[in-house]
Amino acid sequence: MIFECVKCGYCCTVRPCAYGEWDEEKGQCKFLTKDNLCSKYEEIKKAEFKCMYPMFGCGCSSSLFNERREAKIAAMAMKPKEITINQEQKEILDHTMHRAANGLYCGDSEDMQDLVKKGLMVSAGKKSFVPDEYFKITEKGRKVFSGQEN
Ligand code: SF4
Ligand code: SF4
Repeated sequence: MIFECVKCGYCCTVRPCAYGEWDEEKGQCKFLTKDNLCSKYEEIKKAEFKCMYPMFGCGCSSSLFNERREAKIAAMAMKPKEITINQEQKEILDHTMHRAANGLYCGDSEDMQDLVKKGLMVSAGKKSFVPDEYFKITEKGRKVFSGQEN
């Protein structure tokens, strides 16, 4: 089972990954930003292009007894009705639910990243023969879509 990475930053405060460097004073990787993102994200994505098991997009590496992750999930648990999406995002959800093969939407974008941030879509990783990342809809994504269907 894969547990979604919710960008809580915890794993980067335990030890640095292969691309990181430890900041002794802060007790975390020096590339971890204040909002718990990796400032080397683009660099790592580029370095791992075509990698079968990329570091980003393969789920959470530290999901057990992780209070920081639990707190982030609780904070993210907005009610579906309170979430607003634009027309393009509505089409992404619609396509993923009704037309995408195996429920996998191929291709990243700003709108997609916003959907991921809102917990409506989640990365499903890459396939070795396609350069673009795949995404699938979450339960919350389905609820938001059905709540906004005309
Ligand atoms: S390089 Fe990025 S992903 Fe790796 S430990 Fe540092 S902040 Fe985390
Ligand atoms: S601990 Fe898990 S959820 Fe938090 S940033 Fe690391 S991989 Fe993502």
